[in-house]
Amino acid sequence: MTKEIRVRFAPSPTGHLHIGGARSALFNYLFARNQGGKFIIRIEDTDQQRNVESAEEKLMASMRWLGVEWDESVDVGGPHAPYRSMDRLDIYTKYIAQLLEEGKAYYCYCTPEELEKEREEMKARGDMPMYSGRCRNLTPEQREQFEKEGRKPSVRFRVQENKEYTVKDHVRGDVTFESNGIGDFVIARPDGIPTYNFAVTVDDYLMEITQVIRGEEHLSNTPRQLMIYEALGVEPPEFAHVALILNQDRQKMSKRDETVVQFVEQYRDLGYLPEALMNFLVLLGWSPEGEEEIFTKEQLIEKFSLTRVSKSPSVFDPEKLKWMNNHYIKQQPLERVVGLCLPHLQAAGLIAQEPTPEQLDWTSRLVALYQEQLAYGAEIVELTSIFYKNEIEYGEEARAVLAEEQVPVVLQAFYNEIEVLDHFNAEGIKQALKTVQKSTGHKGKALFMPVRVAATGELHGRDLNDTLALLGKDKVTQRLRAHIQ
Ligand code: GLU
Repeated sequence: MTKEIRVRFAPSPTGHLHIGGARSALFNYLFARNQGGKFIIRIEDTDQQRNVESAEEKLMASMRWLGVEWDESVDVGGPHAPYRSMDRLDIYTKYIAQLLEEGKAYYCYCTPEELEKEREEMKARGDMPMYSGRCRNLTPEQREQFEKEGRKPSVRFRVQENKEYTVKDHVRGDVTFESNGIGDFVIARPDGIPTYNFAVTVDDYLMEITQVIRGEEHLSNTPRQLMIYEALGVEPPEFAHVALILNQDRQKMSKRDETVVQFVEQYRDLGYLPEALMNFLVLLGWSPEGEEEIFTKEQLIEKFSLTRVSKSPSVFDPEKLKWMNNHYIKQQPLERVVGLCLPHLQAAGLIAQEPTPEQLDWTSRLVALYQEQLAYGAEIVELTSIFYKNEIEYGEEARAVLAEEQVPVVLQAFYNEIEVLDHFNAEGIKQALKTVQKSTGHKGKALFMPVRVAATGELHGRDLNDTLALLGKDKVTQRLRAHIQ
């Protein structure tokens, strides 16, 4: 019987879901579904200083919003519960005791100051700084002495000398590390809490993880994890380390760089569609055969494979994400797009918090007019500013249009037509423009441009009849009046 595929995403609850983490979650999820396996979310919270209150709920909420679904985790439970590292301390303690017992790990009493001094001395000698192994072979008397001094030991892993550890990686091929370059590393801190490398290994083993798919930044941790698997006498899982995501300057993305929106929650709040973000993220580092770029979740599940994950970094292009989101927005039912836009219009104070049916209807028509062009919900505010302004500022180009010779005649004639219109709607406006065309003899640009510019201040925009209808009779006549005698 072939082994069931089991993969996991193991975020630390240190903040919001970053696009890099989201991509890892997504690759794991798609791989699991493609293989008919299980996808697990495990919370790795042993680095308590870095934990952030409520980050766990937020991470999970962001993943749920994105459309990633899991089979086992802190919320849904599962056969390997608990799924939060800090709830698994007893388990780690047992394995640490086992390694100590077998001499594969040892107590280290060095203080942070001593370790720092040692590192400085190595650097001064031009050596690569790593733990010297001072506590490797302490006698019982030496240990007792340290204990008497009140020192609390950490536990270090005893790295074997002159060995090679090869990470067999689905993305990077074989990557070999020399054990001599790796000093004995801490697997449990003085308070008994294990370090990441130890907890992750024990958990991946006990949770029967078959493939570890994660960011490349963890590749250098992997030989340590291989050593722990070896010490525990168990087979390691397979690995796939996914290349970095770079920013537009081809630099590693920094979470602190506020010029780039980097968190899933922010995209949700800006009015992006989860399926568009998912589609976009999966293409950061994975590519299907062929040129097609737009995929539903079902198609992604069907197509995803580790063999088409790229070894080279991908560049995060916010413009492409906008393009993709617009592509999805265009295909959505209007109501859904209104849902993306409405909170932003409300936050900007342009629509009431509790809109009347008329206001809602107006908003729907407004959004319908811009749906084709809209990249994301929040953009509606900027795109539709002409509808809310009291005073229009006419720029240089606008003034040039309004200075054309035929303008006073055209605008006056149009004004006269619409003033008497019973129904100030797109159809009525269209008829009015036709009448003006006949009566003044001006047509095309000479007719439409002055009307558009006078009413909106802009040279380009959406359909003129619809735009004027939405502006409403009062605004349009008031704006025209400024340009006629
Ligand atoms: N907790 C680690 C992180 O957030 C997970 C690394 C791993 O997948 O092994 O980076």
